[in-house]
Amino acid sequence: MDGGRPTAPIAAVAVDVFTIPTDAPESDGTLEWDSTTMVLVRIDAAGRRGLGYTYADSATATLIRDKLALLLVGRDAWSINARWIDMTRAIRNLGRPGICSMAISALDTALWDLKAKLLGVALVDLLGAARESIVAYGSGGFTSYSLERLRDQLGGWAREGLTAVKMKVGRDPHADIQRVGAARAAIGDAKLFVDANGAYTREQALEQAERFAEDDVRWLEEPVSSDDLEGLRLLRDTRPAGMAIAAGEYGYDLFYFRRMLEAGAVDAIQADATRCGGVTGFMDAAALADAFGMPLSSHCAPALHVALCSAARRAVHLEYFHDHVRIESMLFDGAPRPRDGRLYPDRSRPGLGLELREKDAQRYRA
Ligand SMILES: [Mg+2]
Repeated sequence: MDGGRPTAPIAAVAVDVFTIPTDAPESDGTLEWDSTTMVLVRIDAAGRRGLGYTYADSATATLIRDKLALLLVGRDAWSINARWIDMTRAIRNLGRPGICSMAISALDTALWDLKAKLLGVALVDLLGAARESIVAYGSGGFTSYSLERLRDQLGGWAREGLTAVKMKVGRDPHADIQRVGAARAAIGDAKLFVDANGAYTREQALEQAERFAEDDVRWLEEPVSSDDLEGLRLLRDTRPAGMAIAAGEYGYDLFYFRRMLEAGAVDAIQADATRCGGVTGFMDAAALADAFGMPLSSHCAPALHVALCSAARRAVHLEYFHDHVRIESMLFDGAPRPRDGRLYPDRSRPGLGLELREKDAQRYRA
């Protein structure tokens, strides 16, 4: 304490990179991959350690180590907004979207985790809970999967009690119709979401939306490129009833979300705290969603978003993404598992409630 005001100079910032192979080759409408890289940061102050992470290229770790960490060490850990301003100023000439925002996201998240630990409360309680838990929708159904694996994965989630599941489309519009039909048949009463990752032309997307409606698809994510706000708006204006147009995962700053919302491009906005500026950036996006009366859904990283979506007033669900579920349960003690189709933040553990499994993580160190 300093005259009643708490102070906690940051003693150290550590960054680690882990690359984890996928359990099978994976693809969506526009990308193929066989591994996922997590950039993990830990920030020490006042005898406590905050943890944050992003899914990003290892170049993100270089930026943290060589530039952003130097801005943090010795500064006050409590003053998160001051640290955020320092970091966003420092990357002015490097460009805000992409690597820079992912680096800031990991560090900001670690600062929030640290602050909650210094106070001895769960992050959701530091933010102020809006609800006890959040609906988790299963997400996977990669275009690289056989029909059998697609049915097994999506049907498995539905049998475990998840009330909605999402699959990838967009690699082959014709095959998509068959794949969506197979998924629909495998999931009983669960809601079916699809994600094209921007693969369709506007014309294809209009046509596919009509076909998907026959299988009661409720959520059409990035039917066209999320940079085509006019195209998204066109889809939104003509979509079949009951089908939401969604996008937002490439939002690296608040201005991106504002542009998307002002364009009337979506029925629900997606935000990813590992990209959009950490806990600070996510809660800013949540406030913006509130200002537009827009449902908010989190993208990927469920172990991080469970706290944020339990606090954000407009949050409707969280993406329980296959790759990240697997990685977070491998690398972290405390990664949440769904109960009755929902994820519950563990409010008995301070901060995010996540602890790195050092020994298990070693073999994936890049
Ligand atoms: Mg997506």
